[in-house]
Amino acid sequence: MEQDIYENKTVNSLILYFSIPAIFSLLVEIMASVVDTAFAGHLLPSPEQREAVYHRIREFRGSKPIFTMDFQNDAEYVGGCIAGGRNYLHINAKGDVEPCVFIHYSKCNIHNTSLLDVLKSPIFMAYHDNQPFHENMLRPCPMLENPEVLRRMVRETDAVNTDYESPESVEHLCDKKIEYAENWKETADRLWRNCARCKDCNQEG
Ligand code: SF4
Repeated sequence: MEQDIYENKTVNSLILYFSIPAIFSLLVEIMASVVDTAFAGHLLPSPEQREAVYHRIREFRGSKPIFTMDFQNDAEYVGGCIAGGRNYLHINAKGDVEPCVFIHYSKCNIHNTSLLDVLKSPIFMAYHDNQPFHENMLRPCPMLENPEVLRRMVRETDAVNTDYESPESVEHLCDKKIEYAENWKETADRLWRNCARCKDCNQEG
């Protein structure tokens, strides 16, 4: 006669048996969080690397008939941060309307809020009212280069986290960026002060 695999097991051992996947998943999540916190800064370019990209992109512009664009160092050509509806916004798969594809804090969902009302909502108005986030266009981002600004905007507007895969408080996110912002400040200010616009992009300095 075929034996039931659960027949000889106690309730406690069955609970343990079925808990193993959940425990494993929890451990993976904890490890991912530790790695995320410990290595967050290492996934971003160092000031030296970012400066090398800054110069290289400008060299290309001076030697090739194309306008190469650098995501991190070309805010001067778009007047700073473009998020929060100034030039774009992001709608996730669940319909949450976020100021930027990297900023998962919002209180509006496109399924029950018009785009116009989204733009008038607190977090989007905070983006509008706080622009530019820095006068140095090499430090334009409210998260990467000015984490205290994003922290304040999210707190003041009560925007909630809309990252369902990897929920993160604004405190955790912004704490991770403090060191990066501090490290980049000196290089960014020197480059911005000494910007050779006239030479590299034919604008008046
Ligand atoms: S929030 Fe930061 S990453 Fe997003 S558009 Fe603005 S500057 Fe770029």
